[in-house]
Amino acid sequence: VEVHVCMGTAGVASGAIEVMAALDEQFEKHGLKNAESKERNCEAKQTGCRGLCARDVLIDVYMPGEKSITYEHVTAEMVPTIVEEHIIGGQVVEKWAAKADYFQFYDKQKRYVLHDCGRVDPESLEDYVKLGGYEAIKKAITMKPEEVIEEVKASGLRGRGGGGFPTGLKWTFCRGAKTEDHKYLICNADEGDPGAFMDRSIIEGNPHAVIEGMLIAGYAIGCDEGYIYCRAEYPLAIERVIKAIKDAEAAGYLGKGVFSSDYNFKLKLKEGAGAFVCGEETALIASIEGERGMPRPRPPFPAVRGLWQKPSNVNNVETFANLPNIILKGSGWYSGIGTEKSKGTKIFALSGKIKSSGLVEVPMGITVRELIFDVGGGIPKKRKFKAVQLGGPSGGCLTPDHLETPIDYDSLIAAGAMMGSGGVVVMDETNCMVNVAQFFLTFTQRESCGKCIPCRIGTKTMLDILDRITTGKGREGDIELLQQIGEDIKTSSLCGLGQTAPNPVLTTIKYFRHEYEAHIKDKKCPARECAE
Ligand code: SF4
Repeated sequence: VEVHVCMGTAGVASGAIEVMAALDEQFEKHGLKNAESKERNCEAKQTGCRGLCARDVLIDVYMPGEKSITYEHVTAEMVPTIVEEHIIGGQVVEKWAAKADYFQFYDKQKRYVLHDCGRVDPESLEDYVKLGGYEAIKKAITMKPEEVIEEVKASGLRGRGGGGFPTGLKWTFCRGAKTEDHKYLICNADEGDPGAFMDRSIIEGNPHAVIEGMLIAGYAIGCDEGYIYCRAEYPLAIERVIKAIKDAEAAGYLGKGVFSSDYNFKLKLKEGAGAFVCGEETALIASIEGERGMPRPRPPFPAVRGLWQKPSNVNNVETFANLPNIILKGSGWYSGIGTEKSKGTKIFALSGKIKSSGLVEVPMGITVRELIFDVGGGIPKKRKFKAVQLGGPSGGCLTPDHLETPIDYDSLIAAGAMMGSGGVVVMDETNCMVNVAQFFLTFTQRESCGKCIPCRIGTKTMLDILDRITTGKGREGDIELLQQIGEDIKTSSLCGLGQTAPNPVLTTIKYFRHEYEAHIKDKKCPARECAE
């Protein structure tokens, strides 16, 4: 008997450590720990996030020859009943078992990258290997590096960090770059958008998949050294990836002579101090070099002159985690999922006013409605859906009129939002959209590195205007001023942070102008949030 316990950050925060301890205690008490009979032997196994964070602590009970049973909102106090009635007595504790609405969360998902999150023990190399781990890199090193790049190109994989640039094409630039010695491969795990926890969950739940993806990319590009750049606010992810690196090195999967081949790949972890701008690749490179994390003008692009002035390739966590499947199952399999120009699946972090907040992986092309209502379960308290901020603080707000928009790179941009890294923050009828815009702009303004004036001064000026609007001191012409400054910041900022910072303000003005006008003219907003 195996009992899987969600020990991702959300699980731990909800009491998973205590649940694990209670399971161990009960197994010991009933003589089920290390029992000789396979039917009686019970083991509690930690796993990463399986998605429905809102219902943590989640546990799955696997009895031999039976369908697994999931229990939600489990506490240490519930464990003796589950052990005695279900594991020993054979009767499922129906009142705590997951019902149809739990399984509905998974119905429209296609969990390929997240497949083993929730199944594999993230701190066990053996467990990952047992589930087919490291078979993809074994296969890749029997191919020529150029063949690996062609396979990734043919798959249609685009960078999952937000830009959506074709991954295989990006690799060709770095592979073709001339250098006397090193080329570097960097994994961007600096996810910092409010409402985003995709990359953290992948690393916490299955760190070896990211390492394996990096091994594949490093081999294809010709890199012999890599860095995982992870923000220090992700202590569990850091702890697990450090252990995974050590275990993979000890097993001969990383370091000198990967799987006894002549491919060498050394991997290190670099902790970032939590600056949002360090998600921008040149700022990230500066930070690894020990400099202040500020973007650098491009060209030269990192593929030509990146880390320590050497050719470097940066991809994000989710991009790397897609690679083992592409190599093992083939580009044809991968390109068969999704839309014509956006292939594969995308992981989203659902948060805000949504019933099933958590981590989901859906095929590209699914509509905004399906994502929010079918997968996310819709809006709680029978309230109406008002808007969704897609793509984090750099993205844009979409309205009920956009519910049928397919989620792919191009359709979202056409609708005024963007894929971003995958943050989805849902608003209901009580939310004031001026407050929402102010919230996101406050974040980007604080995170501006200050290097260029349009972003440094422009975002502050926009925020000052928003402050006076929301405090009843708005003036005629403020909306137009916000639009003008916003457009100027977008066109004249150095990096993506400034180029996208005005988006939440501009899209909320576009779709909810009446709320801005109500704040300015009537000195009050119709939204309940403001009335209260
Ligand atoms: Fe820094 Fe903003 Fe300029 Fe980017 S746009 S370099 S964050 S000041």
